[in-house]
Amino acid sequence: MATFKLMELPYPKDALMPFLSPETLDYHHGKHHAAYVKKLNEMLPGSGFEESSLEEIVKKATGVLFNQAAQVWNHDFYWNNLTPKSTQAPGPKLADAIKTSFESFDKFKEDFDKSATTLFGSGWVWLVADAKTKKLSIVQTKDAENPMRQGLTPILTLDVWEHAYYVDYRNARPDYIKKWWEKVNWDHAEKQL
Ligand code: MN
Repeated sequence: MATFKLMELPYPKDALMPFLSPETLDYHHGKHHAAYVKKLNEMLPGSGFEESSLEEIVKKATGVLFNQAAQVWNHDFYWNNLTPKSTQAPGPKLADAIKTSFESFDKFKEDFDKSATTLFGSGWVWLVADAKTKKLSIVQTKDAENPMRQGLTPILTLDVWEHAYYVDYRNARPDYIKKWWEKVNWDHAEKQL
């Protein structure tokens, strides 16, 4: 039977400062993300998904099992989506796709900021690609929901659950979003296209 492991962070815990403190990483990765992995593993026996990959579970499971699996997948993607050595701008392939889909990078950033700011409650904001048309769009998902379930390919994600920013930013979600742009791993994003 498959058991899932908490991914190791691809950088030291202080590497994302001043965007995120080591304390936030201790809680967000070491407690929240770890708890989703633990609960997912506890729920696997008898679920019918014992031999499934994480992606298969995210695409097909329902209820609490889906919530745990999707939160594991979403957080893996979120951490890989960050880097202390951001290039600060997308590479040429992704930059072109953004320009085609949103008119300009600034317009894309404005739309993304608006989606991240206005998402009510807990959830995620995603830059996604339509597998057929290749067109990019921004989607908000509630709770653990993941756009792969609509056949969309995640390119970039931002966790806007309060646990992602409350230690460093308290209630100031817009400040968290603003700082997030400085640590985006654009190479990872472009590889998803
Ligand atoms: Mn989170």
